[in-house]
Amino acid sequence: MAKSKYEYVKKFEQNETCLLNCWIVVRIDGRGFHKFTHDHLYEKPNDIRGLSLMNFCAKEVMKQFQDIVISYGQSDEYSFVFSKNTSQFKRRSCKLMSNIVSLFSSSFVFYWKTFFLNDLIYPPQFDGRIILYPSLENIRDYLSWRQADCHINNLYNTCFWSLVNKGGLSTLDAELKLKGTLAKDKNELLFSEFDVNYNDISPIFRKGNIVIRQKVAEEIMKEKNGESVKVIKEKNDTVILHDDIIGENFWKKFPEILT
Ligand code: ATP
Ligand code: ATP
Ligand code: MG
Ligand code: MG
Ligand code: MG
Ligand code: MG
Repeated sequence: MAKSKYEYVKKFEQNETCLLNCWIVVRIDGRGFHKFTHDHLYEKPNDIRGLSLMNFCAKEVMKQFQDIVISYGQSDEYSFVFSKNTSQFKRRSCKLMSNIVSLFSSSFVFYWKTFFLNDLIYPPQFDGRIILYPSLENIRDYLSWRQADCHINNLYNTCFWSLVNKGGLSTLDAELKLKGTLAKDKNELLFSEFDVNYNDISPIFRKGNIVIRQKVAEEIMKEKNGESVKVIKEKNDTVILHDDIIGENFWKKFPEILT
């Protein structure tokens, strides 16, 4: 096609590409979800419907982007890790980040009704960022950092909402009571005042959500000698785990993920 005299403006575009040999992390995070979760009547501290919707959206993203090798989500955020040799969008960072964040956001709206009975009352927003990690140690530490953050926030939120919902404190008094406390103080508070052993809380809340690809068995019906028979077929699917990813065990079990 003949070029118009306006074509030169294309030269102003900056196509930044992600450095070769680095794991590419795209992290999305809900904008103003403190308010969003309040306005949409989420249970506090952890609304399982909200987490399940986030997980469902992450699976959708991994279905569309096969080069994502592992994802980790907690609260209103999800991190998607692309294999270090991906050539998706020629590694153009704007393309990678914007496509992931828009697919995640539209999925969140599209599937909302599958998880919630109440309607969305305004459109949710997510931000996105890209981070490159050049070594195995760096990418492992990144994932550990997010899981440690999940633990710290969940311990705090569990105490905070116990004080408010069961202890009858105002949100301000609960905040004051927790100010300056250490992890062991919070564990002790849960145990002595609310008879809660923190380690008994569901791992989905304590450890967050890990999505990996695995072969799963699927039953399908097949025609054989004019008869319909059941056969087991292996297929690749994404699965959600709530394991510890800070220690070595998980990575010994799944060494191929970060190769
Ligand atoms: P920002 O725009 O800076 O990200 P934010 O209000 O989204 O602001 P975050 O630090 O991202 O702040 O925190 C997310 C908030 O959403 C927290 O208050 C958290 O408790 C709440 N939240 C997210 N998911 C859930 C859930 N499944 N159940 C209950 N609360 C949730
Ligand atoms: P890419 O992912 O590279 O953007 P694409 O298929 O989206 O690929 P575009 O160059 O963005 O390609 O072109 C958009 C396509 O969508 C065109 O084929 C255009 O005809 C079609 N399209 C967009 N809006 C409309 C519309 N309102 N009515 C009919 N066709 C439309
Ligand atoms: Mg924030
Ligand atoms: Mg947020
Ligand atoms: Mg957040
Ligand atoms: Mg297009």
